Amino acid sequence: MSYENVTANLESIQRQLPDGVTLVAVSKTHPPEAIKKAHETGHRIFGENKVQELVDKFEALPKDIEWHLIGHLQTNKVKYIAPFVTLIHAVDSVKLLKEINKRAKNEGRIIDVLLQVHIADESSKFGFDADELSNLVSGTVFESFENICIRGLMGMATFTDNQEQIRAEFKLLKSLFDTFSNGKLGANGKFDILSMGMSSDYEIALEERSNMIRVGSSIFGARSYDVD
Ligand SMILES: *Cc1c(COP(=O)(O)O)cnc(C)c1O
Repeated sequence: MSYENVTANLESIQRQLPDGVTLVAVSKTHPPEAIKKAHETGHRIFGENKVQELVDKFEALPKDIEWHLIGHLQTNKVKYIAPFVTLIHAVDSVKLLKEINKRAKNEGRIIDVLLQVHIADESSKFGFDADELSNLVSGTVFESFENICIRGLMGMATFTDNQEQIRAEFKLLKSLFDTFSNGKLGANGKFDILSMGMSSDYEIALEERSNMIRVGSSIFGARSYDVD
């Protein structure tokens, strides 16, 4: 695949971003050369969804890159990314939080995470639902995680052409974000990141006041194989 459009694609999306919105360039499945192209424009924030691929790219590429893990994370793989990951987007269990806390402590780090919320009308998507989240927040479990900073929420809308459905799901996530940012989670640290929107729906997400979008194919082109 040729990556000659990466620079133009990236710049065109950056021009659409309101102040205070962060673009995560999702480079999964694309080779280091593609990331280098984007890096040459000054872009530094990249997202991957597989641990092994993330570690390989971290090792191969400039060390000023901020790496985000955006995909589902298995507990037994936390140790591989704990030394360097900047933000883990898809935390969906207390068990995973415990493991991240333990590995962060070993590294002498505080790792930033987002809690993934299940907003889609699909059973296959991971994440807490709104009730689980409320229960967690009203309990004390987060207080024990001294090496984690819960920075906010992440969600994925249903894979559909129905724009109004996508908008409604983003609205729900935004309202949960507002609710929890006034609660205990906010008190525990910063609660300032709302990660929602990808290539097909980031314009809606921005209208619904996302402040972090994760965009892959609109920057790097279609993926020749897809990973989940
Ligand atoms: C792949 C992926 C994206 C980016 O998808 P595009 O449609 O290529 O923009 C965003 N978020 C997550 C969690 C992903 O796995």
